[in-house]
Amino acid sequence: MQITRRKLLGHAAIASAALAAGCGPRRIAAPGLTTPTPGATTLSLPKVRVSDDRIIRTVTGLRPFRPSGFRVQVEKAGEKTVVHNYGHGGGGVTLSWGTASLAVEQAMQTGAKRMAVLGSGAVGMATTRLLLERGVAVTVYAKDIPPNTTSNIAAAQWFPVTVYDDDRISPDFMPQFVKAAEFAYRRYQLLLRSDWGVRWMVNYAMRDRPFHADELTGTESPIHHLVPESIDLPEGSHPFPFKYVRRYTTMMIETPVYLETLMRDIRLAGAQIQVRELHDLSEVAALPEPVIVNCTGLGARALFNDQELTPIKGQLSVLLPQPEIDYAVLSRDLYMFARRDGILLGGTHDRDVWDLAPDFDAQKRIVAAHAKLYAEMR
Ligand SMILES: Cc1cc2nc3c(=O)[nH]c(=O)nc-3n(C[C@H](O)[C@H](O)[C@H](O)COP(=O)(O)OP(=O)(O)OC[C@H]3O[C@@H](n4cnc5c(N)ncnc54)[C@H](O)[C@@H]3O)c2cc1C
Repeated sequence: MQITRRKLLGHAAIASAALAAGCGPRRIAAPGLTTPTPGATTLSLPKVRVSDDRIIRTVTGLRPFRPSGFRVQVEKAGEKTVVHNYGHGGGGVTLSWGTASLAVEQAMQTGAKRMAVLGSGAVGMATTRLLLERGVAVTVYAKDIPPNTTSNIAAAQWFPVTVYDDDRISPDFMPQFVKAAEFAYRRYQLLLRSDWGVRWMVNYAMRDRPFHADELTGTESPIHHLVPESIDLPEGSHPFPFKYVRRYTTMMIETPVYLETLMRDIRLAGAQIQVRELHDLSEVAALPEPVIVNCTGLGARALFNDQELTPIKGQLSVLLPQPEIDYAVLSRDLYMFARRDGILLGGTHDRDVWDLAPDFDAQKRIVAAHAKLYAEMR
């Protein structure tokens, strides 16, 4: 089953450590906590102001999804070696440094000192940076550069969800996934600065049913060690209109800032950027570089004939910024991420949909659901 940000919130039970231990409300180290009194709300958070007239933009993008997971693989194409690195679904910003590291290991085995990277989204630029760090001269060929990539649309929370379908991955995939997540988690921690647009953020996931231990945020998750401070909040200790609330901490990556800084960074480190679309394999084969790392995201479907690759369309309605909001909410199929450039309201996952036109019915539904949540918040 595909793990989406919604399904991340949508399984059955682990009782919280506190509840299992028979504890009532207790002090939890989180911003906004006051001294707890049994039965009283102890966590106080500012509310998001949700209304149609606060919407400043609506954006859509196509997540490059492969049911069997991202593809990092070497392929020979005539004289050239192609290293694929694409198909990250809803976790491409998150995993970018990690799969870049896997792809770079493969590319370095060729011994080439000059390589091409196709694509300049989050994945292509992270790959370029790691190649430059290994002394390789890199030319990037990309149809679009930031701010015009799918990566610029991403919300982007550091969390690898909607990356694969559970029933389609091979036994080899999970170790690769965990390795990529671990590398990326560590690398992003070197970028926790305002000029990179990366910071820690507290998340509140909520619903009417208990959480499972094997969810990605749960104690049995293969990436549990990358989800610090994951705890189920006792009922009555939080302001949300849900019985089950899980709090955990992740990073937030402000993609407009992050991708612009990364582009500047790779240019300064020596990358040559050519804005150019490659139309078929003969054009790829004609590139002067002997090794080509393919980071074309959804573009790989046509360019390398990968019919497994399919879009999952997502839409974000962005409200005026509220600097006092510094947390994220994930509730049923909805999410709210607080960024400096606006409050992002999301919650659409339309598989196999290629059309980028905004869906204003979906916007109405999502904005109304968020408005209700904050109206009911204590
Ligand atoms: C609404 C929404 C919310 C999201 N939220 C998150 C999130 O919270 N966290 C997260 O990690 N991810 C999130 N994602 C997913 C994320 O956006 C993608 O996984 C990620 O952008 C993929 O990066 P990429 O570099 O592979 O692809 P892209 O950003 O699409 O870059 C592909 C590059 O290849 C180039 N290219 C393509 N075809 C060709 C060609 N034929 N010739 C030359 N160049 C070509 C493109 O021009 C571009 O430069 C979200 C996506 C959406 C739509």
